[in-house]
Amino acid sequence: MRAEIITVGTEILLGDIVNTNSRYLARELALLGIEVYYQGSVGDNEDRLLEAFGESLKRSDLVITTGGLGPTLDDITKEVAAKYFGQKMELNQKSWDEIREFMSKLDKSPTENNKRQAYFPKEATILKNNNGTAPGAIFKKDNKTIIVLPGPPREMVAMFEESVRPYLENLTEDILVSKTLRLYGIGESKLETELLDVIKGQTNPTVAPYASDMEVTLRITAKAKSSEEATKLIGPMEESIRTRVGKYIYGEGDTSLDEVVSKILVEKNLKIAVAESCTGGMVSASLINYPGISSVFMEGLITYSNEAKMERLGVKKETLDKFGAVSEETAIEMAQGVCKKFNTNVGVSTTGVAGPGGGTDEKPVGLVYIGVCINGKTKVKKLNLSGNRFKVRQRAAKEALNELRI
Ligand code: ATP
Ligand code: MG
Repeated sequence: MRAEIITVGTEILLGDIVNTNSRYLARELALLGIEVYYQGSVGDNEDRLLEAFGESLKRSDLVITTGGLGPTLDDITKEVAAKYFGQKMELNQKSWDEIREFMSKLDKSPTENNKRQAYFPKEATILKNNNGTAPGAIFKKDNKTIIVLPGPPREMVAMFEESVRPYLENLTEDILVSKTLRLYGIGESKLETELLDVIKGQTNPTVAPYASDMEVTLRITAKAKSSEEATKLIGPMEESIRTRVGKYIYGEGDTSLDEVVSKILVEKNLKIAVAESCTGGMVSASLINYPGISSVFMEGLITYSNEAKMERLGVKKETLDKFGAVSEETAIEMAQGVCKKFNTNVGVSTTGVAGPGGGTDEKPVGLVYIGVCINGKTKVKKLNLSGNRFKVRQRAAKEALNELRI
């Protein structure tokens, strides 16, 4: 079954509110095995809503709308759905009683326009609203369905859970199960190239990459009659992905690089100290995001000036004079220095040119060195990062964390 989501309301079109209803519905429909084919937003306008229904139902079997079920005259979704199917609105006494009962519990008396909310075609299935006055409804005609839900997210979600989900579950046999793999250190296009033959032409499971700031998420989705069956379909696909790009996969599901790295340090009981220059505390902050880190995180220093690097970390003056603060040698001495000072297993350092000024031909903006000292062994990573000052710092911090996947 194919579905479309239409959110109704001028506020959405103008960008006044964030369209969280679409996001919620899209995810829930996907989990129910219903393919979401298109999403749209329409203002409170009869002609455009009629047109949107027409277009959507040409492509798809089901349209779910949110919004425009209120008591005022600009709330027209229900009326337009009835008009689209050529159905006549009439007062539904049961619904009107329920609305009045709901309002009397709140010590409110219904107004004449509240009565509009109890008008439905006799062909429609009315969905009771236990959290507001606007009932929803299921309209059907010739294998096409429009489900109208209220706009306020709290009411919409409750109505979806109470009435729409059971209704849709009865319609569909398949379910969709997804597994998410999280990757760091490989770009989306390189990843796609590596996996081309595995994912090309693949329909069940499907594999979809999503890229966001230096990370890629791969979502493997299988459609099956049961979750066991779906899991069996996902298994071999995951296996072949891991064979090719396993070294970039740092986690699964809703985890983050911060969390994965912090867990490694805690589980291996590796005490850590951090010496940051250009990242200014971002590496420490990321680690401290993890609630269990206190057993291993000893100290984080922001040694921004040369003096601080010398005095606090024991970086040699000659090193700074000869190679400069942004250099492999300084990064190494910073990492070793912080390890020694706080007597930790792990020391990590960052030093770089964050920009926008300060770059030279030899040391351009975005040049960053990450030093990592683990149980006496030190390595250094040179990076050429792009982006504005904040991005360079953020990316450098993430790279430093990634170096701690040990
Ligand atoms: P009401 O009885 O409140 O008028 P309604 O069903 O007519 O309900 P709308 O008037 O369209 O719904 O929206 C009511 C409120 O619900 C909006 O002001 C907004 O805060 C929220 N809302 C509406 N649509 C969305 C959406 N797509 N995503 C998130 N919130 C929404
Ligand atoms: Mg309204």
